[in-house]
Amino acid sequence: MRSSFTLRGQARDRSRLDVAIVGAGVVGLAIARELANRGREPLLIERHPAVGRETTSRNSGVIHAGLYYPTGSLKARLCVRGRRLLYELCEAHNIPHRRLGKLVVAANETELPALESLMARARKNGVEQLQAVDKAQLARLEPRVAGTAALLSPVSGIVDPHELCKALEADAIRAGATLMARCDVMTVEAMSRGLAVEVSHPAGSETLICERLINAAGLWADRIAKAAGDDSFAVHPCKGDYFSAPASAARGISRLIYPLPDQKLVGLGVHVTFDLAGRMRLGPDTEYIAREQLDRPLDVDPAKEARFRDAARRLLPHMRDVSLQPDSYGIRPKLQPYGGEFHDFLLAPSSVRGLYNVAGIESPGLTAALAIAEYVADEIAD
Ligand SMILES: Cc1cc2nc3c(=O)[nH]c(=O)nc-3n(C[C@H](O)[C@H](O)[C@H](O)COP(=O)(O)OP(=O)(O)OC[C@H]3O[C@@H](n4cnc5c(N)ncnc54)[C@H](O)[C@@H]3O)c2cc1C
Repeated sequence: MRSSFTLRGQARDRSRLDVAIVGAGVVGLAIARELANRGREPLLIERHPAVGRETTSRNSGVIHAGLYYPTGSLKARLCVRGRRLLYELCEAHNIPHRRLGKLVVAANETELPALESLMARARKNGVEQLQAVDKAQLARLEPRVAGTAALLSPVSGIVDPHELCKALEADAIRAGATLMARCDVMTVEAMSRGLAVEVSHPAGSETLICERLINAAGLWADRIAKAAGDDSFAVHPCKGDYFSAPASAARGISRLIYPLPDQKLVGLGVHVTFDLAGRMRLGPDTEYIAREQLDRPLDVDPAKEARFRDAARRLLPHMRDVSLQPDSYGIRPKLQPYGGEFHDFLLAPSSVRGLYNVAGIESPGLTAALAIAEYVADEIAD
């Protein structure tokens, strides 16, 4: 007989659920944990055998300070709050992380006004400990970085997303959440009261009935909403590739190094990140892809190497002679279409009663996850 789905946590009567969540990425996990901590009994449904297998495990792992996003936006507010909560959680649960600090660097005089506006925005967003750094200070802080001036954010850092997800899963289950893994949500039907959710798993299918369904399906969130009859938004996948650099290129660099972002915040610019083992990666770039491309594994085109090297050597002249290797990629679930304006996170009840959409959770979603969870739990508190 084929094995069925995997159930972790308490078995529940799945014909009378209070709240179910589609998607056990970092956001679905954080919501499950928050709801369980508030005494609710959420059921988390995930199609992979384990949690955090999609966008959550394919990112830079950066704990963002909250510098970039328009003041008052959900991205700005939830990034700042989420960062503080994330550091507290990492410290309480021994989740590997480091407060490396970050420099956003103006490569030349013409970039200075943009650097100044970024500083002003970051201050308005409530980011702490920011410092304006001049050329001489920059040379002292990071001798391998070339630039006219920089913004130093000491509260930026890195976290291990895999360990973070493991801790959130354990915490959520301990508090009363249940995880059903290897279950693919196929259809969602609104009933006179609640929603019927059909899931398919390796041994067959099952229909669950819940009062509320939280749609945290990442790249597939528009599909889940549409299945329920809500076609109010579309996800535009935007791929970001990474190249890795040899250890010699990383030597002597101790902070995350970023260029100034593009105006519409499609991406933050190809930057230097480190994982917790000290391995240096460059990326991610931005490349909108067709929806159908999500159905197959993609790769990182080695022909992009020169472009990545050129981007890196603007701030790190020694990268001129370094050879880069194609590394991993991640796909942003953007609500901002190609050429479109900045779009905020979508955290809102759907027009379909009982459905709540958590969509467009691109960067800084990893940082903001715990604050997104608080926000959603408050919204559905009735
Ligand atoms: C290239 C890149 C770099 C990034 N860098 C950073 C960074 O440095 N810092 C930061 O804060 N953020 C970063 N982000 C953003 C961050 O990774 C995301 O915001 C976050 O991981 C989103 O988590 P999620 O839970 O919403 O989505 P996901 O991790 O995609 O989870 C959604 C889950 O839903 C499941 N699912 C979908 N459909 C179904 C279905 N029908 N049935 C059952 N399950 C389903 C999927 O399997 C998946 O596990 C980056 C993103 C990218 C792409």
